[in-house]
Amino acid sequence: MATKWGPDTCGCVIERIPDGGPNGDTATWVSTETTCPEHAGLSGQDLLDTCLRENRRRTHVRWLAEINYGLTELQTRPFSRDPNDANVTHFDANRKLVVIFKDRAGSNLLSNQEKTELQDAVDIQSGFGQVEIG
Ligand SMILES: [Zn+2]
Repeated sequence: MATKWGPDTCGCVIERIPDGGPNGDTATWVSTETTCPEHAGLSGQDLLDTCLRENRRRTHVRWLAEINYGLTELQTRPFSRDPNDANVTHFDANRKLVVIFKDRAGSNLLSNQEKTELQDAVDIQSGFGQVEIG
């Protein structure tokens, strides 16, 4: 059955049929209700796949930080859809995910070595240049 879905990583709203894959992260596009400004050049299955991939990328980084370093999202900077807000986790103008591992007072939550380890793990999963650990 088709359901309406909107990722928290952008403003798109898409009607889709979940494929029931192992991670629940694939789906078939049915219709588009809203296309966000960042995804204006995409449509149909491409739009849905892009939204799913970006949403999964953010979830994956959060998961790695939690299982490896015990960091929950509440401890780090919140996510913002604003590409110009460099103080929080966000997608930049090129849709690269920038994850800020600082507490709300501005102190680093990861050492430089931990950041490098996490960056390497994320690059393997998402592809080089898709995520920046800040
Ligand atoms: Zn979008």
